Amino acid sequence: MEVNEPASQHELEIKKLNREIKRLKKDNELLRIANNQAMNTQAYIQRDNYRQMFYNNQLLKTYPHLLILTDDQLQTVMTSDVFFDHNRTFSKDEIERGVPLRDALSGILAERDLNHFMVMCQAAMVGRAVEPYILRNIVGGSKTDWQITIRRMHMEGRVTGLNIVFVDMTMMVDALDRAEAADKAKGAFLANMSHEIRTPMNSIAGMSELIIRDSNDDMARQQAMMIKSASKSLLAIINDILDYSKIESGKIELRAEDVRTASIISDILMMIKIRLKDDSVELNSDIDSNLPSVIHVDEVRLKQIMVNLMGNAVKFTEKGYIKLGMHMDKATDGSDHLHIYIEDTGMGIKKEDLKDIFSSFTRIDTKRNRAVEGTGLGLAISKELVELMGGTISVESEYGKGTTFFVDIPCPVTDPTPVGDISVSIGEVREEVFVPTYKIPGVNILVVDDNEMNLTVVSGILAPYEANVTCATSGEEAISKFAKERYDLIFMDHMMPVMDGKETMFKIRGMQGGENVKIVVVTANAINGVDEAYMDMGFDDYLSKPIDPACLDGMLKKHLDPDWIVEKGGQKSPGDIHDTDVRIANSYDEIKETYEEETNMGQSNEEVKLIDKAVGLRYCMGKEDFYKNVLNIFAESNECSSLKEMYDKEDWEQYHTIIHAVKGTALTIGATALSEKAKGLNQAAKDGDIAYIKEHHDEFMEDYVKVLELIKKGEI
Ligand code: ADP
Repeated sequence: MEVNEPASQHELEIKKLNREIKRLKKDNELLRIANNQAMNTQAYIQRDNYRQMFYNNQLLKTYPHLLILTDDQLQTVMTSDVFFDHNRTFSKDEIERGVPLRDALSGILAERDLNHFMVMCQAAMVGRAVEPYILRNIVGGSKTDWQITIRRMHMEGRVTGLNIVFVDMTMMVDALDRAEAADKAKGAFLANMSHEIRTPMNSIAGMSELIIRDSNDDMARQQAMMIKSASKSLLAIINDILDYSKIESGKIELRAEDVRTASIISDILMMIKIRLKDDSVELNSDIDSNLPSVIHVDEVRLKQIMVNLMGNAVKFTEKGYIKLGMHMDKATDGSDHLHIYIEDTGMGIKKEDLKDIFSSFTRIDTKRNRAVEGTGLGLAISKELVELMGGTISVESEYGKGTTFFVDIPCPVTDPTPVGDISVSIGEVREEVFVPTYKIPGVNILVVDDNEMNLTVVSGILAPYEANVTCATSGEEAISKFAKERYDLIFMDHMMPVMDGKETMFKIRGMQGGENVKIVVVTANAINGVDEAYMDMGFDDYLSKPIDPACLDGMLKKHLDPDWIVEKGGQKSPGDIHDTDVRIANSYDEIKETYEEETNMGQSNEEVKLIDKAVGLRYCMGKEDFYKNVLNIFAESNECSSLKEMYDKEDWEQYHTIIHAVKGTALTIGATALSEKAKGLNQAAKDGDIAYIKEHHDEFMEDYVKVLELIKKGEI
């Protein structure tokens, strides 16, 4: 047994060892598995890291904006590749190892902008909200508009740095700038147009008003009433053009009323007849005798469309005829439609231009049209208006032969009685003549305007009030007059050279007695909202050109002490002038003949072509002395040599200034043809069309010299 005992002990040991070996083997296996797993995980992590890095790299490579990530010390961590398009100082490695943000951007942002940017970054780091902002940055002469966004980054509640994005907005900002500039140009264009058109309109309306009031000659009064009626319509149209934005934004409201077709036609033909310069273009009509007498339509808009189209026909037709056709029929749905066509034998429109002609501000064939006035708005407005009325407008044209516009407008018939033979019944003149009902003797009024003609008109309108009217032709003169004399009311033109109305008003306000004097600004800039702007400047009121005598009357009543007003006892306008029937075709020829007879003025045809004394005299209210004065001023301010000098020097800016002045003064003395030529050159100088100037300068100078010689002869 003793022998067995150790043996069994031994066996036991062996068994134990075997178990131990087994356990170790198992552990070993487990370790191997664990090791394998660890290796797998490591490989996986490595692969994932690579993946991550790959995508990060891709992201930074393809990110379209300049991105910079920093640490909490504002040292760079990484940037998008766009950064390296702008930075030439640091390598990718250096950036990733960490460069101070300020240094990294120092070649990219201008010093002053960089300072501001760093302040924003510091602010973002301490948790202040920094809104994205646009920065116009100019480095080395090149401009970039950056939109900069700065955001703070966090990890597990700790601030890790900044995420900064620069987006290049240059193109967008440029586009915006261009759009704004275009908008501004449009505004300026409207203001200019307002001034350019309203100033001569002021003279036309004012002068005709004076004739209506002062003349004892019935014929002259009738003619003047026609002029006034036409200028009134024109003014309405000008206002609409100024309000073009209103049309554009669809804010025009139609006001349909019952209108006599004969009166529309007569008014339109009257306006157009006045515009025809000579006998080389006939004005014809083709009015269906079955046209209903009364239709329901917006008269002002309809006339505006017709005047636009007929006005164009006049402008673009040198010989032949212009025809207005009108008839009415029923559409398939039974509604009444007015059909108008306006045909001319003018220059026509090229096929390729036809598609553009209804677009706003479009003037085609500008080389040929240089001397033809226009805004390029007429057809666009007409189209908008026709469509607003539910109608259609179209055009047919053959280049060199002529053009026909067709308008079709639905409008109900109120009185279907046929209008009959229109040519013998048209031409109603319905005009109220404004006559003041009170006087203001002893009241001192100062009228300030650089344009003599405007001064004449205002003083003429003021004459019946029996006030003391003093005129000043410049701001400086107004100030020196104000220093010597007490005035109760001042009418101040806005646009004057050297010192404009605003500056003059400021100066007067600062003088003794100037604080309380009533100053009314007179301006041709009749754009919505300007009246308030003028009041804000310090004017007491606002009077728009052309001056309406009734408005001026209201202004006097409003601003003068009621004790100064002496009532005359309510005069009425002469009733016998109303509703006078005039046969249009005959009356105009008669008017022309009578006018020519009366105004022959002993001038030869050649002379009339150079200076039409009748025209010049009209601008000077028929006063020979005044006209002589104006002629002398024109001759004294001979611009021949300065024009030649500027032409030789090719100083087109100065050339433009001089020719612009000659354009106006030539017209005032009745040198219409010269003024017309100056107008073409003026426009060309404005547009920088030097070829046109070179082509027409000599011809203009020849005429200019002839006109000056004629004045020198002293026979006018
Ligand atoms: P504008 O003020 O220049 O006359 P419109 O819009 O009325 O502006 O006309 C645009 C352009 O269309 C004109 O400048 C001209 O070139 C052309 N046009 C319009 N009507 C006629 C016409 N009856 N004959 C020839 N061309 C015309």
